[in-house]
Amino acid sequence: MKINSLCVYCGARSKVAAPYRRAAENLGLALGSRGITLVYGGGNVGLMGICADAALSVGGRVVGVIPEHLKDIEVGHTGLSALHTTPDMHSRKAKMFELSDAFVMLPGGLGTLDEIFEIITWKQIGLHGKPVVVLNAEGYWQPFLDLVDWTIAQGFATAETRDLFMTAETVEDVFTLLEGASETHMDPRTKLF
Ligand code: AMP
Repeated sequence: MKINSLCVYCGARSKVAAPYRRAAENLGLALGSRGITLVYGGGNVGLMGICADAALSVGGRVVGVIPEHLKDIEVGHTGLSALHTTPDMHSRKAKMFELSDAFVMLPGGLGTLDEIFEIITWKQIGLHGKPVVVLNAEGYWQPFLDLVDWTIAQGFATAETRDLFMTAETVEDVFTLLEGASETHMDPRTKLF
C-alpha cells in the first residue's frame, strides 16, 4: 500500500533512555528520506520533538496538530511545514486521523496509549481500515502486547483483535509491514463480537 502520510504517536517526555530516543530519530529520518509526511502532535518536546526534527533535517514534510491549551506546555514546534491548532483534544485526534494514511506507535506514556487505543478501537468497530503499527522498540511495548493477549485469553476480545494492528521490532520493519499492508475493514458483527 502506498503511504503518503504517517501519523506517529509517541511520548512527550524527554528524560527517557537513549535507545527510545534513537528509535524516534530513526523513524523521523526514515520518513523524511522516503518523502512520507510525518503527522504528529505538533510539540517540540520528548520523542515528538526528536522525531519531527529528524524528519525536517533530511528535508521531510512534517505536519503538527496541537490543541490551543497545550501550545505552551508541549512547546508548539515553530519549524514545521504546517501546524494546525485545534480547540480541544478531540478535534486534535480527529484532525490527525483525517490527515494520515496509517499510524505508528513509538514508546510513550498514557497520552500515547490513549491515542493508539482510540485508533485501534475505531478500527474494531469498523470506522476505518487504515494500517496501524506498534513499534516495539527495545521491547518497550511488550506489556501492551501481553495485555491485548490477556484480554483475548480471558474472552473479552476475540483472536481477530490481534489483526487490528501489526507489530514491528525495528524502524525498517515498519516500512516493510506498511508496504505489504492494505486497508482492512473489520466487520464488527461477525468477527469481533
Ligand atoms: P504521553 O505519551 O503521555 O507523553 O503523551 C503523548 C501525547 O499524547 C501528548 O501530545 C499529549 O498531549 C497527548 N495526550 C495526552 N493525554 C491525552 C488524551 N487524553 N487524549 C489525547 N491525547 C493525549
